[in-house]
Amino acid sequence: MKQNNGQTPNNENLRVVIRVRPPMAREIRDGKFISTVQVAPDNLQLCIFDYHAIELVPDEDLEQYVSNPSNYTLHQFTFDYVYDQDSTQEQVYNTTAALSVDSTLQGYNSTIIAYGQTGTGKTYTMHGFSFNPNSDQLGIIPRSLHNIFNHIQMKSNSSTTFMVRASYLQIYNENISDLLRDSASLNIREDKKRGVFVENLSEWAVRGPAEIYQLMRKGNAKRVTASTRMNDTSSRSHAVFIITVEQIEEKPEGKSAKVGKLNLVDLAGSERVRVTGATGQRLEESKKINQSLSALGNVIAALTENRGSKPHIPYRDSKITRLLEDSLGGNCKTTFMAMISPAIDAFGESLSTLKFANRAKTIKNTPIVNQDGDQGALLRKYQQEIQKLKSELEERSKQPLENLVNELEKEKQKALEDKQEAQSAYEQRSKDLFKETELRKQLEEKISALNSQMLVGGQKIEETPQFQSALEKQQRLIRQQYQEKLTELEKERQSIEEDKAQTDKYKQLLLKQRDIMIALTNRLNDRDETILQLQEELDVYEKLQKENEDQLHSQQIRLEQFEELFLENKIDIPLVLQNQKQFNKEKVVDIQNDLQIQKLESIPVQTLHTNQQVQSDALISYELKNQIEINKQIQFDLKLTRTELERSKNEIEQLKKKQNTEQGTLIENARKSVDKILELLTSEQSEQSLGNVAKELNQLQRMLKQGIQPSRTHVKGQYSFSKSTSDSPNKIMLINKQNDSMAKSTGQLVKLMQMKPQPKQNQSPVLGSKLKQKQKSVEDLWNQI
Ligand code: ADP
Ligand code: MG
Repeated sequence: MKQNNGQTPNNENLRVVIRVRPPMAREIRDGKFISTVQVAPDNLQLCIFDYHAIELVPDEDLEQYVSNPSNYTLHQFTFDYVYDQDSTQEQVYNTTAALSVDSTLQGYNSTIIAYGQTGTGKTYTMHGFSFNPNSDQLGIIPRSLHNIFNHIQMKSNSSTTFMVRASYLQIYNENISDLLRDSASLNIREDKKRGVFVENLSEWAVRGPAEIYQLMRKGNAKRVTASTRMNDTSSRSHAVFIITVEQIEEKPEGKSAKVGKLNLVDLAGSERVRVTGATGQRLEESKKINQSLSALGNVIAALTENRGSKPHIPYRDSKITRLLEDSLGGNCKTTFMAMISPAIDAFGESLSTLKFANRAKTIKNTPIVNQDGDQGALLRKYQQEIQKLKSELEERSKQPLENLVNELEKEKQKALEDKQEAQSAYEQRSKDLFKETELRKQLEEKISALNSQMLVGGQKIEETPQFQSALEKQQRLIRQQYQEKLTELEKERQSIEEDKAQTDKYKQLLLKQRDIMIALTNRLNDRDETILQLQEELDVYEKLQKENEDQLHSQQIRLEQFEELFLENKIDIPLVLQNQKQFNKEKVVDIQNDLQIQKLESIPVQTLHTNQQVQSDALISYELKNQIEINKQIQFDLKLTRTELERSKNEIEQLKKKQNTEQGTLIENARKSVDKILELLTSEQSEQSLGNVAKELNQLQRMLKQGIQPSRTHVKGQYSFSKSTSDSPNKIMLINKQNDSMAKSTGQLVKLMQMKPQPKQNQSPVLGSKLKQKQKSVEDLWNQI
């Protein structure tokens, strides 16, 4: 058996107690549980059995195996108190925690630290999992507070005043957070008056049991939320519930103030310590996992090592050791509660915990009652305030009520006046404020305008907000101006486009007019040419007529010769010749009597001067007969030709005259009109002048249209020449020739007179194609207009 209790547990300021929790369901096999821990009946000693290679023993042999002392090594420890697995919450509180609470009420700093492997009952012992004040599951925290309130109640008399406050914090991953209020990470501070404290940690005044549970619920809920989020944080975080009790006692010799603090610490699972305790590498790892528990071990080690007079204690290595600085070797009455599991599985952890606790026993604390004047500062401050208010009340109470009412009335009146005054002042202020705001705005704009032009050290000018805003403003302005300019330009462009279109239109019209003029001039030239041609043809006719007349004349002479010949030969002048004479006179030949001719023909040649003569006479007579026929026809033709010629001449004359006058005026008018248009176009253009141009153009167009259209449509019918039955080739030839030329001239005339000629059947192919060209050009012009 190993004895580990070197000292008697007589250290009042540092008590170490052990609590063995009952086995859990998972630790019981087949309804049997083999405990490695055994608590002595005096509740001061504890044995832990180190079974050798128990893991190799079959379940059925276990019972026999554990009862054989040769199979185990026994470790024995002595502590201030050892709670066996059947201990109750109440027992634990009464025999251990109550002492700490008493110390606190006496004005000491007290601390209860729950240490142990995860699942050994630290939280259960500290909190208990109940918020019912009557539950026997209640842990140390609610019981302590109940105890404090009971104490206050029992002690409550006018001589002592209490103030109880509570705080609740958590340290996880070296971050302190407030469990009763949302806060950022908190820091630990230290000053001479307050000692070590957590800065900005909320403190809640507690006035009754109901408020205790409220705070506990709030804090635990927060811890649970955090735990869920941080993956079982509760086993890796420390929770510290702090109860502060301030009290001022009035004694005959004067007031005495005391401040007691009770720290109830639920540490993180100690299994980390065992793991880290092993080797260097693991130690490093564990430091990372739970630096604070390692630091606690180191602090305790430093505190318990008897080296030199003043060893260095590494409190500052972690938040928890720093926070518990007073509790560990300082001004505090500390109770160290180590929880262990009795299960074989937890043997290693349990032994380690026990060794740790055993070591802690040697820590020397030097607690003192905190009854320095400043300690009860808050309560004192409150009391002073209350005193002041009380005396004020008393002062007021001395005055008669009526006076008070009067005074109140006066005050009310004054208040009303003040209110009105304030109202008008407020209005005035509002106005001023508005003005001021406006002014400021202006100034700000000015400043930003100026700033935009300045360079700011260490900052690019483009990055300054002033520059940016000025830039944006400028950009907006430019954009706006640009837009306006764009619309203006667009308008201008449109009007130019319109003007251009208008000018183009006029230009086109002028071009058309010019083309029409050219066409007209061409046509006039054509007409002149046609007239010349006609003139030529007329000359030909005249020549032809002359020839005919000459021929007629020679025939006449010949006829006279025949007469003379007949007379000389005493031949009756044939009727034909007589008639011929008449014809001679009348210039008409009419051969009526075929008999006469036959007679003439039957004249024997001998009867004539000579046979030859006779023969020749008969020939002559025959020829004469033919000649007469021809002459007759010629006479007739000639007459017709002459009349026609005369008529043609007249017509040409008339046409010429009319054309001259018509064309003259038309060209003159057209020229005037074009001049006018050009003048209007070159002059300053306005809507009215453009209108005038359009009007003028219309007129010109109409004028030209009239000029082009034929003034007469009167066309004489085709001349038809009666074809003589005579077979004389000469005659036929002549007639044909005359017919041709007449048709030609008539056709020409008709063509000339028709401005929109229709296709003719009797046109010569050359003239036809020419005409067709002309017709086409006129039609084109027409269509263009
Ligand atoms: P820890 O806080 O040390 O991790 P808990 O306080 O959460 O452990 O306890 C773990 C479990 O064991 C809980 O269900 C708890 O109710 C139970 N338990 C611990 N100690 C006791 C005890 N003394 N009596 C009854 N149940 C206990
Ligand atoms: Mg816990």
